[in-house]
Amino acid sequence: MEIQCPSCKKVNPDSSVCIRCGCELQALRTILQAAVYEIAIGRKKLCMGNPHDALNHALRSWHLKNSSEAARLAFLANISERRFAEAFTWYYRATKKREDR
Ligand SMILES: [Zn+2]
Repeated sequence: MEIQCPSCKKVNPDSSVCIRCGCELQALRTILQAAVYEIAIGRKKLCMGNPHDALNHALRSWHLKNSSEAARLAFLANISERRFAEAFTWYYRATKKREDR
């Protein structure tokens, strides 16, 4: 998993410290991996017809990293449970993040 150094913005491959400035990256990498894992579990829950659990995993991922993937999963989980106002909020977050890239 590539990771951008929060200090110098260098994109690093699979190293535990930044190859440019030596900043510790392992803790950040662990957090990002947990965020990806939560999305994977949430997607499975949604496919199994459990949008409530899917939303919980999406929220856990979102709290670890505000990613468009987490926002999209939260959007789909809310749509599945017919919570359209919340779904709109997550749609906005998903598309806003995409525009920021
Ligand atoms: Zn760095």
